[in-house]
Amino acid sequence: VNPETERLLKAYELTAKLYHFLLKNTEHGKAAMDYLRSRGFNDKLIDHFQIGYAPNRWDTVVQFLEKRNFPLEEMEKGGLLSQRNEGQGYVDRFRDRVMFPINGRSGKPIAFAGRILGDGQPKYLNSPETRLFNKSRVLYNLHHAKNAIRKQRQAILFEGYGDVISAWDQDIQNGIAAMGTALTENQALMLKGMCDEVIICYDGDRAGQAAALKNFPILEEAGLQVKVALIPEGLDPDDFIRKHGGERFRNQIIDGAVTTTKFKLINLKKNHILLEGGGQIAYSKEAVKLIAPLPSPTEREVYLRELAAEVDVSFETLKQECNEEREAMK
Ligand code: ATP
Ligand code: MN
Ligand code: MN
Ligand code: MN
Repeated sequence: VNPETERLLKAYELTAKLYHFLLKNTEHGKAAMDYLRSRGFNDKLIDHFQIGYAPNRWDTVVQFLEKRNFPLEEMEKGGLLSQRNEGQGYVDRFRDRVMFPINGRSGKPIAFAGRILGDGQPKYLNSPETRLFNKSRVLYNLHHAKNAIRKQRQAILFEGYGDVISAWDQDIQNGIAAMGTALTENQALMLKGMCDEVIICYDGDRAGQAAALKNFPILEEAGLQVKVALIPEGLDPDDFIRKHGGERFRNQIIDGAVTTTKFKLINLKKNHILLEGGGQIAYSKEAVKLIAPLPSPTEREVYLRELAAEVDVSFETLKQECNEEREAMK
């Protein structure tokens, strides 16, 4: 391995340990610890995910790395430090944030996500892209989750770090997250190499649902079966687990995840007001257009029957509409 890469890996390893120590054992870390406790993070989770705290100072990491003879210029390029705004020299990149190490395939930290304590912008400050960290090729928690993903042939894709951690707390060990909501082909192929099915479990808000719609084709194109979990509006998986517990999360949310066709139909329905006649017609026609291309007659029938139960149109009529649509597709 290149010596600069080696040094940076070592620096990340030591800095992650430093942040973790500062959180757990010092006065500096007290407010961050209180914040984490208020969110339900217990000691077991804080240790397992090596959560830490970057103090509200400019030179904690600068001094720490300097004392250990790391070249500061390299450490700045590596994303641990920032260039001083005025004058020469370096300052800590992360200040007054709860630190979540992001680990590479080997399990070693290669980046950080730093969350502000409470409200404020940006909520998460991430490491920049470096020689260690290419965010389009990394999945959070994959190093812990890979055995469970292989064994269960299934992964659960979350939006946020907190979602992965809360699920882990409930013994759901196949949870991972992309860095931000955009999934890449590379990440999808990594998962395809380990399992057959991915359950997308994004937040129950507009952004989460839009991201699910955007990402499921990327997973399907990689050859994965995809289901989408439906989280009640206003909650994310972390919120849901804290509010309703792990058992309900498993039974209702994970076991209740729907096919991508069903998910598209649910979204379509949200965009139409069914109480009024025109809404029913437009919804029925668009729904049939989604159902018609499905190769399996059984699947088509199941979805058409569900549709018939929602609108004032008989199954026979919908089936006829569907057959005409299929003729037109030829
Ligand atoms: P929390 O529970 O701590 O409030 P969250 O994980 O629920 O956070 P969301 O707002 O749902 O946060 O965002 C989902 C994910 O998107 C985050 O975990 C993070 O990976 C990413 N993200 C959110 N805001 C930012 C940001 N300002 N910069 C970079 N990434 C962000
Ligand atoms: Mn979100
Ligand atoms: Mn969220
Ligand atoms: Mn959250």
